[in-house]
Amino acid sequence: MEKPDITIVGGGLAGLSTGIALAESGIDTAIVESRGKAKADIFGFLLWPPGTRSLRWLGVLPEALREGAELDSLAWFLTERTDTRIQVDLAELGAGTFLGIRPSRLESVLRDAALRAGVRILDSVDEWSLRRERATWTVRLRRGEDTTELRTPLLIGADGSGSRLRGELGLPSSRWQPRGQAIVTGVGGPLPARESRQALSATGSGGCVSLGDKASWLYSVEPEADAAADPERALRRYAELDGLDEEYAAAFDQVERAVVVRPWTVTVPRWATDGAVLMGDAAHGMLPHLGLGGSLTLEDVPLLREVAEEAVRTGDFCAARLSAFQRRRQARTAYAQRISNQWARVLCSTTPGARTARDLAMRRMARNVELASRFYRELASPSVPSLGTRMRMMML
Ligand SMILES: Cc1cc2nc3c(=O)[nH]c(=O)nc-3n(C[C@H](O)[C@H](O)[C@H](O)COP(=O)(O)OP(=O)(O)OC[C@H]3O[C@@H](n4cnc5c(N)ncnc54)[C@H](O)[C@@H]3O)c2cc1C
Repeated sequence: MEKPDITIVGGGLAGLSTGIALAESGIDTAIVESRGKAKADIFGFLLWPPGTRSLRWLGVLPEALREGAELDSLAWFLTERTDTRIQVDLAELGAGTFLGIRPSRLESVLRDAALRAGVRILDSVDEWSLRRERATWTVRLRRGEDTTELRTPLLIGADGSGSRLRGELGLPSSRWQPRGQAIVTGVGGPLPARESRQALSATGSGGCVSLGDKASWLYSVEPEADAAADPERALRRYAELDGLDEEYAAAFDQVERAVVVRPWTVTVPRWATDGAVLMGDAAHGMLPHLGLGGSLTLEDVPLLREVAEEAVRTGDFCAARLSAFQRRRQARTAYAQRISNQWARVLCSTTPGARTARDLAMRRMARNVELASRFYRELASPSVPSLGTRMRMMML
């Protein structure tokens, strides 16, 4: 039997990065993960400065940049008017590092760092069950033929948007997804520039993000019927736009696999209970339309470490103490969920006038790059954006 101070359920982005932070402050930490190896990549991470700041704080940003690409620019354009183009130079923006990286590469960087820090990673877990007695959890694990027990005073739920732990703890949640809309996603060949580039068309949107010298993330947001009918075709549509030259189109020829996904926004009113707290997608899963979910997950880590460290130091793991984490994170994660939902609605809206309003807003931003820059700068800052920025977003 093992007796870690903290047991994290889920060894993805949230679990591994939190494991590093806790172990480095001398907290004995174990991670319970159901997978045995990294999943095949079907998308890429565009990590905003809130995410890369945490990677720097964890000491892994230089390695992550070697495995992926620091982006130089973000571009948006309207497919029917390629002259309507918003191009933000990220060095000029001065908001911090934007990173494009394959999820499997980031996972391997974090996993190595977690092992170096002394985290015990129990992966390939086939089954686990929970019991709580006298303020201590017993987690009983089965891995193949072996069974192991962990006794731990604090559980961290980092098992993603469909979190089983959340259900076991009796913490309610609700889900929302845009009706009739799907995302087609795949990893393709390299792009000629280190950028994220998104096109908005009459029926949806599509784009590409550089993931380094060998790969890019290609995606399109489509009416569900179009996406399901021919996913490869839906992705390729954006390679054939006027704004994309042949070098970009070549990236689309090398797609490993085009997959249709329908992610959810997950709202969890209460993130903590006695002896357990949720984080990452398990607490605030969001639609990937603005690429904010992973960054906000990484941004959880320094604060959660503060709250968990204090709980371990005082031996007080009650819900009231652990809820400090939610109190300090909720405004920002709720804001990111809200604008991701709004953006998802705007992309494929069939409401009369919605597309015209979207395109007018894009044209305004294209004429006034400072407006777009301010929006990016505020999203990249660690605070909740100002009322002014929120109003401008609502007008989109
Ligand atoms: C198509 C798509 C594109 C995206 N693009 C971006 C982007 O560009 N930028 C960005 O920042 N974010 C993006 N995201 C969001 C991002 O992937 C998530 O926000 C992030 O992965 C959340 O990390 P997490 O560790 O909380 O959850 P997950 O990454 O889901 O990790 C959960 C872990 O828990 C494990 N697990 C699950 N159940 C159990 C169980 N019962 N027992 C033990 N282990 C379990 C899983 O195997 C997994 O390893 C995208 C998401 C999608 C779907």
